[in-house]
Amino acid sequence: MSSSPRRGTQLLKDLIRSHQGPLTRELVRKPGRFGLGQVPMDQLPDSVATVVCGFCSTGCGLKAHLRNGEAVGLSPEANYPVNRGMACPKGWEALSPLDADDRATRPLLRDDSGNLAEVDWDTAMRTFVERIKQVQDRSGPASAAFLGTGQMPTEELAFLGSLAKFGMGMVHGDGNTRQCMATAVQAYKQSFGFDAPPYTYSDFEESDVIVLVGSNLCIAHPIMWERICRNTRNPDVIVVDPRRTETAVAATMHIPIRPKSDLPFFYGLARILIERDAIDKAFIQKHVDHYPEFAAFVKDYTPELVFEESGIPESTLETLAEKIETGGRVSFWWTMGVNQSHEGVRVAQAIINLALITGQIGKPGTGANSITGQCNAMGSRLFSNTTGLLGGRDFQSDSDRADVSRMLDIPVESIPAENSLAYDEIIEGIRSGRIRALWIVATNTAHSWINQSDFKRLREKLDFLVVQDMYDSTETAQLADLVLPAAGWGEKDGTFINSERRFGRIRKLRRAPGEALSDFQIFRLIAHYWGCESLFERWKTPEDVFDSMRELSAGRPCDFTGIDGYQALDAEGGIQWPLSEAEAARGPIGQERRLFADGAFFHPNQRARLCFEPHRAPEEKPNAAFPFIFMTGRGSSAQWHTETRTKKSAVLRSLAPAETFVEINPRDAIEAGFVDGREVTLRSRRGHMTARVRITGVVPVGSVFVAMHDAMTNRLTYPAFDPFSRQPSYKHCAVAIEPTDA
Ligand code: SF4
Repeated sequence: MSSSPRRGTQLLKDLIRSHQGPLTRELVRKPGRFGLGQVPMDQLPDSVATVVCGFCSTGCGLKAHLRNGEAVGLSPEANYPVNRGMACPKGWEALSPLDADDRATRPLLRDDSGNLAEVDWDTAMRTFVERIKQVQDRSGPASAAFLGTGQMPTEELAFLGSLAKFGMGMVHGDGNTRQCMATAVQAYKQSFGFDAPPYTYSDFEESDVIVLVGSNLCIAHPIMWERICRNTRNPDVIVVDPRRTETAVAATMHIPIRPKSDLPFFYGLARILIERDAIDKAFIQKHVDHYPEFAAFVKDYTPELVFEESGIPESTLETLAEKIETGGRVSFWWTMGVNQSHEGVRVAQAIINLALITGQIGKPGTGANSITGQCNAMGSRLFSNTTGLLGGRDFQSDSDRADVSRMLDIPVESIPAENSLAYDEIIEGIRSGRIRALWIVATNTAHSWINQSDFKRLREKLDFLVVQDMYDSTETAQLADLVLPAAGWGEKDGTFINSERRFGRIRKLRRAPGEALSDFQIFRLIAHYWGCESLFERWKTPEDVFDSMRELSAGRPCDFTGIDGYQALDAEGGIQWPLSEAEAARGPIGQERRLFADGAFFHPNQRARLCFEPHRAPEEKPNAAFPFIFMTGRGSSAQWHTETRTKKSAVLRSLAPAETFVEINPRDAIEAGFVDGREVTLRSRRGHMTARVRITGVVPVGSVFVAMHDAMTNRLTYPAFDPFSRQPSYKHCAVAIEPTDA
């Protein structure tokens, strides 16, 4: 085992110097040796290969059609248990973004004139190491931080987090999962004792009452909606959402609560369920803590209070309560409308509480089920080594650090004993001078971060910004001092974990352009140049990391020691965790399974907890100067996040709106004198953007909606954060609207 890089800087520099030339030359000349994927191109089958889609968390199986070992087309995999022959437009078009003209093909370094200029990998690696070490030497190891993404395979996330923290001495690292799922993570941890979405997709088909909260499933997760459409039980589908979305229109009941009034609404619903005695007392007694306190707490949430806060009358609450009481199998589902909130954790738990007090969990067609956003947010949650130690462990736990040290054969002193700052705290750390260098991998902070202008200003305070991405044109890459060209989905190997906890395979189907390398191999290179490669000697291929993660999962709630490598995933069409070795031996391993069938949760006493606290109004409220509530969300099924990939497909562009629209209610439009299609300027206290008016009853009076994909949208958003999850509240701030030419 090598000594810590911090203690042997000169020795490490000598090693780096002696190795870097030959390694780099060989890397460029013989890329296969350092793995542009561990499967040589000439050994790929010349037929079809199944991979999991690299956009959303549904995790659809796609059949890649190969010619001469390279993918030339994709189609939905009929036998994959997730999508059963269906895919949304993004899945069909997933290869197109790989062919884009703005792929990053060589490292870029900002030169003395301020321009990004091509350099070789050797120069890029030397610069990376020297500049980050300079910052760390000057301001301490923790002054360099990283941001990753739920778009990378689990193996790369584990490598990134391990390299940065165990090898490079970083303490702080987070990822864009913070923008998407942090709320669900915290809610589950507090309520169940572990971050554990309990469901399986067949619950969509086996429910009698499906309650969707803050989820426009039809366009954000269309294949999950398709699973609902396969439900033969004639289910009631109830949508709780301020907007009359595509999903709300298709539902049997739409409950248009006011924006961010979901907490009093669900507490009021719990009160009525308790009053009606529509609860499962036996389940509560056996499996749930804090029921008496909860029942006393929700007494304050009278129908009058709920109406005042949410605009929903008592009769609607009663109707919903009756459906839950008499409906049979009831499942509750939520996504970003809940997670992206100033009090999202408590809202998610208000939903979890409903499932717990009614005993609607652990059985077919039930559950308190968070729908994940990104294709591998779940992998990021378990193995990114950011705010939690590998495998859902705790950096502050001596025994957890000792476990990881033993299993990975690394010195326990190399594992930080403190928790990472969250994404927003890293950004604040730049402001305060605590963070001086930032390494951003495969996420577009300058576009997607809340109140984005603030990040762009703060970038000037960084001594060094590295961006590792498959495109050098992203808003964030354009701000970088150094750009490292990376392979994308379809150009590398690994696994994703989808919303229902299913591991699925991704593969190298194409060669990455130019000198772009898989993130995995970039991490190997960095480890080499940094001088800490001995820590990661066992990780020569992504599957080596998978094997380590398997070991790390042993005895944990996410135990997947029963998944015997990639070939098992290939054979089964993905496998859900948990699957211990003992369970696998009993078999079968590929069947769908949900959690908590035995009523045993993950707290030490095996009981779930009801978590609750009073509602807080959002910080920024509309007033005379900024009279509208500004909501953001998915624009269409053809668009993904900052559109760095989806905009590259002509097909997807043709399916998405060509311009940015602001949805405005007809009453507000008449009052303001706006006509459909007119260009307007939206202003918040932080910035402004332009959009064309779309007059529609989709949005309630007093609110407007803009899709999140436009690069201007986050100029306006207000940086409020949930206190437990630190997830940003993208869906509520105050704006004014005026004609652009006024
Ligand atoms: Fe890919 Fe999600 Fe579309 Fe399925 S629903 S094809 S996983 S983007």
